[in-house]
Amino acid sequence: MRILISNAMNLPAAGSPTVGSRVDIGIEDGKILFIEEHTSPDAANRLQQGPWDRIIAGRGRLALPGLVNAHTHLGMTMLRGYGDDLPLMVWLQERMWPVEDQLSPEDIYWSALLAIGEMLKGGVTTCADMYFHMEAAVQAAVETGIRASLSRGIQDIGGSGLRGLEEAAALCREWQGAADGRITTALGPHAPYTCSPGILQRVADVAARLDVPIHIHAAETRDEAAEIAAKYGRTPLEMLADNGILDVPVTAAHCVHLEEGDISLAAEKNVKIIHCPTSNLKLGSGIAPVPKMLAAGLTVGLGTDSAASNNRLDVWQEMRMAALLHKGTNEDPTAVPAGRALQMATYLGAEALHLERVGKLLPGWKADLILVDTDGLHWQPDYEPIGRVVYAGERGDVSLVMVNGRVLYENGNLLTIDEELVRHQVEKRAQRLGLLPADGPNGP
Ligand SMILES: [Zn+2]
Repeated sequence: MRILISNAMNLPAAGSPTVGSRVDIGIEDGKILFIEEHTSPDAANRLQQGPWDRIIAGRGRLALPGLVNAHTHLGMTMLRGYGDDLPLMVWLQERMWPVEDQLSPEDIYWSALLAIGEMLKGGVTTCADMYFHMEAAVQAAVETGIRASLSRGIQDIGGSGLRGLEEAAALCREWQGAADGRITTALGPHAPYTCSPGILQRVADVAARLDVPIHIHAAETRDEAAEIAAKYGRTPLEMLADNGILDVPVTAAHCVHLEEGDISLAAEKNVKIIHCPTSNLKLGSGIAPVPKMLAAGLTVGLGTDSAASNNRLDVWQEMRMAALLHKGTNEDPTAVPAGRALQMATYLGAEALHLERVGKLLPGWKADLILVDTDGLHWQPDYEPIGRVVYAGERGDVSLVMVNGRVLYENGNLLTIDEELVRHQVEKRAQRLGLLPADGPNGP
């Protein structure tokens, strides 16, 4: 498939080359073939240089790399809004865990479709999922066309760790690089407080052997840091280092409660961090020291975490939150500038997931891109192109989404997902689980 996007607006700071403010983008075999100034002599002939299977009019649209949601749990989307505003342990023990025990692979599949549909409509082209019944998530990712880094969560509770690790390793063996490379895998030990040192050491060995990264939650809450200190006399990150987890490529979500020493340890071990500002705020976990991480040279991506703790799978919101939050808490309007937040939402997120050539509009890179309608009044006037994306733009402005050179969403329509069917299935399943009354939310 050869596609030409003609005369779109360009934003060099967002990972595009400095070739002009209006560009033509050629796409072939899932990759970006060229991106060049619309008015250049070369470009003038591009229309004739086909055959193009399709020419997309880019006028009035801003081309950006697709957004990366680098930490989420697709299967929990069905639990959106089930248990808002509760303390973390009450939320987990009384709301999440009892329902999660009852979720079937089919529930996870429809939940994942709900999540992926929402994300695609908001310009998210890559997601990282950690959950269970992962065969259902794989199926959803393969069918919908999104790029996904998938890991089966491993918890070492009551001896479940080894079985989890076996399943997790099988997922990697079977699916790593599937669907033209769109599907990548990782090992997902849940967290330092749910995994024993023994299981973490085994996970690190298996990750090295399979040559896949590790995706883990770390230092999410003050309670976790206290529990690990009481048990091992270490910080959560030190505990992970003690057990070999930081010796392989690793992605650590949250990292809210880091000591000074942890930031240098993370820098030394090249730990990739996923900042999940909304989830951390909603669960009252705190605010990650992102400006310090960036100053130490760490790669920081953005994640929504699950729809149960956010409740949106909206990377525009996380980007804006990341740009605003640290200015407020540090009383410093220069903290996490808009351009940096946009990078975190795109190629830094991809880098944090150990993906290659994802997140920039450059020749040879994956054709994962979005077109954004900037006609809305909230985009006017155009003084500061990056600032208006981060501070004024929103997910509803996304008009086209392409992953691996394939258009998945255009002008309000999801092309690989039956929205009505997803709505119906999710409601039916929520009723079966007792989360909704049997006659539905709008019943008598
Ligand atoms: Zn999470």
